[in-house]
Amino acid sequence: MKVLKFGGTSVGSAKRICHVADLVEAAGRNIVVLSAMSGTTNSLVEISEYLYKGNIPGAQEVINSLYVKYEATLRELFGSDEILHEDARRAIGRVFSLLRSYCSEPLTEAGEKEILAQGELMSTAIMERVLTSRGHNVGMLPALEFMRTLPNGEPDMQHISSRIRRLLELESDADIFLTQGYICRNDHGGIDNLRRGGSDYTASIIGAVIDAEEIQIWTDIDGMHNNDPRFVEGTKPVGSLHFEEAAELAYFGAKILHPACVLPAKLHNIPVRLLNTLKPEASGTLIYNTAPDGTIKAIAAKDNITAIKIKSGRMLMAYGFLHKVFETFENHRTSIDMMATSEVGVSVTIDNDSRLAAIVDDLKQFGTVTVDKDMVIIAIVGDLEWHNCGFESKVLAALADIPVRIISYGGSNYNISVLVSAADKVRALAALSSHLF
Ligand code: ADP
Ligand code: ASP
Ligand code: MG
Repeated sequence: MKVLKFGGTSVGSAKRICHVADLVEAAGRNIVVLSAMSGTTNSLVEISEYLYKGNIPGAQEVINSLYVKYEATLRELFGSDEILHEDARRAIGRVFSLLRSYCSEPLTEAGEKEILAQGELMSTAIMERVLTSRGHNVGMLPALEFMRTLPNGEPDMQHISSRIRRLLELESDADIFLTQGYICRNDHGGIDNLRRGGSDYTASIIGAVIDAEEIQIWTDIDGMHNNDPRFVEGTKPVGSLHFEEAAELAYFGAKILHPACVLPAKLHNIPVRLLNTLKPEASGTLIYNTAPDGTIKAIAAKDNITAIKIKSGRMLMAYGFLHKVFETFENHRTSIDMMATSEVGVSVTIDNDSRLAAIVDDLKQFGTVTVDKDMVIIAIVGDLEWHNCGFESKVLAALADIPVRIISYGGSNYNISVLVSAADKVRALAALSSHLF
């Protein structure tokens, strides 16, 4: 059995939903994971923001325009069948009644999480009806009945495994299984989610716990490109990637994959295939335990990075200096992405600056602290084992005209990272593409 995940654009309109139904039918008896229709989760976030601010008319306006979109989608899909249309309208109507009910009470965090879950609940409710109307026996696997996180936010793999197996048994007559991406329950049993873009993670977790033959991530582009197609022209799909290479790219900003999505597949050695719903015949990208080939595969960029430098008299001679620096970040539950050291100081980067002022305040005990905001990590990823000569020099030659704040190489066999100012991001990505590919 395979796990097939379709992203927001893939189910973004009535036509696209029908097209996904065609692909799902052709693929056989698999587990299908759906995202919310494109734009829906953003609208749900907007509704929550208005509700938090007490702007009820603002929330109502977004709810109303979202309703218009769903009404039109249902009409196009089911308009010719009165009973089916009415049934679908009732299901979606319940979601909108829930959203409207939130307009009469102050919003809590639990309420916000319930609001955010509605997109995936609606897309699966619609797809269930489309597939059923085509004569399929659809086995619904409600994510809120099996997907659960631990107190540390990590997926509770044992619970997920036993619950989903039970649900699969209960639906043993089904010829297609359908579930929601992104949504889950937390350790208190409350509705929660796996963060934005989390449907990829859902697919990978399910693939791991059922020991799937393959995890397919269907999206709006023909695989992982060798640079970010939103900023660089002429990017090309990469045929295959090692799990570690894909994990580095996802973590460092390749939006096609959720940052955590590679790990469960890697641990269970399940191939992940990235495919294009709009061009299903394209071979896409296959992520698995590829053999080393000594090439640079792709470049990605991670935005909103802050660099912090702590300069001390004689840092490396001062026993315990780095320990104190790292402990400061740990105390503030802030993780470090990149680092560089010298005899007199250390520079690190963080992507979550919510505790920045307190961190800087604490670090001042150990040295002089300077902060650079609006930075970008650019990760150059491939089989960069250190005996493979020349990659570092090519990367640096590409960036000859661009100010580089930190360089990091040797942390893994798969990555060279450089930190540049956000203003230089696009220029740096383009220069790397033209020098390296
Ligand atoms: P979905 O809604 O299907 O999850 P996403 O928008 O999350 O789709 O991811 C697909 C998008 O990721 C592409 O449209 C593309 O703009 C963006 N992207 C960023 N970096 C890359 C890359 N290196 N290769 C392919 N796509 C990328
Ligand atoms: N619908 C969620 C989001 O937009 C999850 C996903 O699409 O992967 O972030
Ligand atoms: Mg996505």
